[in-house]
Formats: sequence, structure tokens, C-alpha cells
Amino acid sequence: MHFDVLTIFPDLLESPLKESIIRRAREKNQVRINVTNIRDFATDKHSMTDDRPFGGGEGMVMKPEPLTAALSSVNDENKTGRVILLSPQGRQYNQKMAEELSTEEHLILICGRYEGVDERFRAKSIDEEISIGDYILTGGELAAMILIDSVTRLLPGVLGCSDSADKDTFSRHLLKHPQYTRPREFEDVSIPEVLLSGDHQRIEEYRFLESVTRTMDRRPDLLAREWFSKQEVALLKKNKLYQTVRDIQESNE
Ligand code: SAM
Repeated sequence: MHFDVLTIFPDLLESPLKESIIRRAREKNQVRINVTNIRDFATDKHSMTDDRPFGGGEGMVMKPEPLTAALSSVNDENKTGRVILLSPQGRQYNQKMAEELSTEEHLILICGRYEGVDERFRAKSIDEEISIGDYILTGGELAAMILIDSVTRLLPGVLGCSDSADKDTFSRHLLKHPQYTRPREFEDVSIPEVLLSGDHQRIEEYRFLESVTRTMDRRPDLLAREWFSKQEVALLKKNKLYQTVRDIQESNE
């Protein structure tokens, strides 16, 4: 997997790419991440990458020529890289999209600044626009970093424990169960007894039920889209949760 990031502020990405899981994935060549400074492709003597908007109005707009030249420098001749513009006007990002992007070979992430990019560049060169949420950032760099982080951890071998991504929140339409670590008692609060039982089936069942009740409380919209196996339905019935789950699902249909 190979990421190219095009930005006028490459330093913004430097530190997060040098830490923890992303650093190790890069060292082991599980992911390749290159950051390109769009300014290096400006042609005028002041290295301008933005200019005033035609028609007047607020702010500056990123010029199409440096963006196009920077993009050509990272995409191959057949233009096989998937070109993504980070934009508040794009499709809203989620875990399913991260999973889908993790199957690509080459992603090219374009970070906008100011009022955004010239429309002609967007129309001609962008395959897809992705937003990380309904709010406005000062630039696309942090959004690009979120994409890189969430996709990289899904790549084969990147996470230490091979199944930990499968059990995360959003891998199903469920929030993950609560977690506890040492000490057993903290400020007079003990951990649930079942976690010390050594009975793996009971622990799994407890965690599943916690996950369902937590999702019910916090994200009924997610729960409405979840599908349960026969055994899970039986367990929900036994714990008198099934009817509430069905009510939530039916009210969202
Ligand atoms: N004027 C633009 C508008 O109203 O749609 C917003 C421009 S914003 C200040 C500058 C850049 O930050 C955008 O071009 C985009 O690259 C990035 N950006 C801002 N919010 C974002 C979001 N929610 N998701 C992804 N990128 C975002």
C-alpha cells in the first residue's frame, strides 16, 4: 500500500507519521507514505500556490497549475493512483470506507487550504472527495492523517494482535464492550467478577451483552442496522434484551 500526500504544509504531517504503529508499519514496509510539497511545483518567482478568487469575495483559492504538476509527479503514466481530495463537501468518512480504501494499492491524498482548490482541477483530476465530518478545518492535512491512520491499521500484519481490528467498534454495527486492566480494585470500584472466572464462553457472552446495551444507549441508529446470529438472538432473549433490540430496529425501518 502506498500513500502520497500533496500539501503546502508538509511539516504538519511529519510527527504523526514518525510515531507508534504508523512508524513501525513504515519501517517494515507494510505501508509507504510520501509527502510532497505542492509549493515545489509553483512556477512563478514567489512560489505562489494560491490566488484571489475570480468574481471577488473572501479568501484565496489554490491554483490549478501547481496542483496538477504535483499530482503528475506522483501518479504513474497510467494514472492508476486513486486521487482523493479531502473536502468538507465530500462523502462522509466511516469505517466501511477505511476498509474499502485498505484494499487499494495507491492512494493520492490532496490537502486543500484557504477556500479550497480551483474547480477545474477538482473536476478534471479528482476521483473522489472525502469529508471527515460536518465541520470546517483550516486544511486537509489532519483529515489526510485520519485517513492514513485508519487505513494503515487495517493492512495485513500492521496490528500486533491479528484480530484486534475485527473486534473494534464499527467492525459490526456495535460499540465495543468496556475494558478493564489492573488493579482489580480502583477507588472502591471492582472489575466485573465474570472477567476473573476464566470461563471464556461466559466472558464472551458478557462482553457481547455489554456491547449491545452500550450501543442501545448511545447509538441506537447503529444497532438498527445490526444482524444477529441464532445463538446471539437466543442470548438476547435469555437476558430480556431481544424485544428492545427489535423495537429499535423496527422504529428505524
Ligand atoms: N471554503 C470551503 C467550503 O466552505 O467548503 C472550506 C475550505 S477549508 C477552510 C480548507 C480545506 O480544509 C479544504 O479545502 C479541505 O481540504 C480541508 N477541510 C476542511 N474541512 C474538512 C473536512 N470536514 N473534511 C475534510 N477536509 C476538510
